[in-house]
Amino acid sequence: MRPITPLHAHPISRRVLLAGAAAVVVAACSDDSTTGSATTVGNTAAPATDPTTIPAAVTTTSAAASATALAPVELAGNPFTLGVASGDPDADGVVLWTRLAPDPLAVGGGMPTDDVPVLWEVSATDDFAEIASGGTELATAGRGHSVHAIAGLEQGEWFYRFRVGQYTSPVGSTRPAPAADTPVAQARFAAASCQNYSDGYYAAHRDIAEQRPDFTVWLGDYIYEGGGLPFDADVVGREHLGDEPTTLDDYRIRYGQYKSDPLLQASHAACPWFVIWDDHEVENNYAEGTPQDAADAAGFQDRRFAAYQAWWEHQPVRLEPPTAADQEYRIYRDAQWGDLIELALLDGRQYRSDQACGDATLNLDPPCPEAAEPARTMLGVQQEQWLLDTLSASTAAWNLIGNQVILADSTFNGAVLNYDQWDGYPVARARLLQAFDDNDIQNLVVVTGDIHLAAVAQLRAGERGTGTPVGVEFVTTSISSDGLIGDELTDVLKSFPDLVDAELAHRGYSLHTVTPQRWTAEYRIVTDVDDVDSDVTSYGTYTVEAGSNTVAKAP
Ligand code: FE
Ligand code: CA
Repeated sequence: MRPITPLHAHPISRRVLLAGAAAVVVAACSDDSTTGSATTVGNTAAPATDPTTIPAAVTTTSAAASATALAPVELAGNPFTLGVASGDPDADGVVLWTRLAPDPLAVGGGMPTDDVPVLWEVSATDDFAEIASGGTELATAGRGHSVHAIAGLEQGEWFYRFRVGQYTSPVGSTRPAPAADTPVAQARFAAASCQNYSDGYYAAHRDIAEQRPDFTVWLGDYIYEGGGLPFDADVVGREHLGDEPTTLDDYRIRYGQYKSDPLLQASHAACPWFVIWDDHEVENNYAEGTPQDAADAAGFQDRRFAAYQAWWEHQPVRLEPPTAADQEYRIYRDAQWGDLIELALLDGRQYRSDQACGDATLNLDPPCPEAAEPARTMLGVQQEQWLLDTLSASTAAWNLIGNQVILADSTFNGAVLNYDQWDGYPVARARLLQAFDDNDIQNLVVVTGDIHLAAVAQLRAGERGTGTPVGVEFVTTSISSDGLIGDELTDVLKSFPDLVDAELAHRGYSLHTVTPQRWTAEYRIVTDVDDVDSDVTSYGTYTVEAGSNTVAKAP
């Protein structure tokens, strides 16, 4: 397996003011070798030799080189149409993201093919009265003119923006993560997934922005690959543009359409995100290299590669882009939020066995023998071992897993209702849950997306309903994607032995408040997803006391 390759960080003290940082000019690179940064993703600002001072020449090196060696680029208009984002916070800083796209619905985003230096700036105040740190990144056509800048930050809240020529981006707010050995009394974060643009509006994202969480965990289905039909006649003007995407240009335009939404932009700008994917970032229910429809097998490897690159271009992730269609692209990774949370972010798509029993859904027959084959895997051998090693080594008060599809037993009278979920991988699930118990992994919480309903589940090693409690799963409903199961089945779901509660009628997300003693999950629901101004209210709150591994609905 290709090792995960972190981007390089150059911490810059907030005590240092950047002299001359605003001197960058919009320029085109006629020769990549003149800047040396065209083939790297990391921060192109040179590291300071003395951490308390940055010579002015360093801060302006890229700009000066650009000014002398590069010709000006004409932009068709404001390139900051897709907002800004930050992500993968660690103790030393965050990734700052934007993408230059004056016309995000056009091939190439309305950009020339030239490379464009982009200035990023960080300040302690949102008026940027003092610039605490900054640098330049070269946005290239080969990477969709996306920018992934590593900002070294001291602890606390910071504001950031980007500049190109006379254009200045919207301002985002972000923060690094508390260091793993730092006592943290409380953290608040949102968990969200499934934002089909054509199914509804993003009132849930407005609520996330207003809640000002410390961070957001995105659990997948950021885009949907469906073609241009109006999926929902109640929502005007949000039909997917174009046919089902298969090429890099197609996926870029799909991301461009989604990221044009102002409420999604506000949600990104509010706090750093940890982002993983599920299936729709490529295609519904794909598994490893296998498309949903076997007839599409030819060319699927190239399609997946295009989708993975577009995902990287549009997410604030601390990762290098994928390298080749026939190479694995590792995105599973972990993070720490002080001594409070160890976060393991999974990839439940790239290594899984193909769905068993012909991908059946809502079939009430007993599972076909294939489902129980012991070699079937959801995470792959290496990721599964990595997960257990990561959680076993954790010293945090809570262990949190960002997971794609429902882990808890959701079978109905023995029938697997959805072979895409962990129910369709029963041997792998039983092995994992037993390993949590065997390895004495304490205070385990799993947050899950995918299924467009809210549920709270007890995770057990061994028998359903009676086995040893090993953790709690909070399934968040969709931001906007239509429900997949009718509301009339709510009571059926609630009758499942390990489902503590379920809410099928509304869209929304979950908001988590974590202290060393108690985990509190609030389910936020959108009154009317077809109303951009909809209220977002609290449906229910659930608590897990440290040491209990069991969940209760708060009165
Ligand atoms: Fe979904
Ligand atoms: Ca999904």
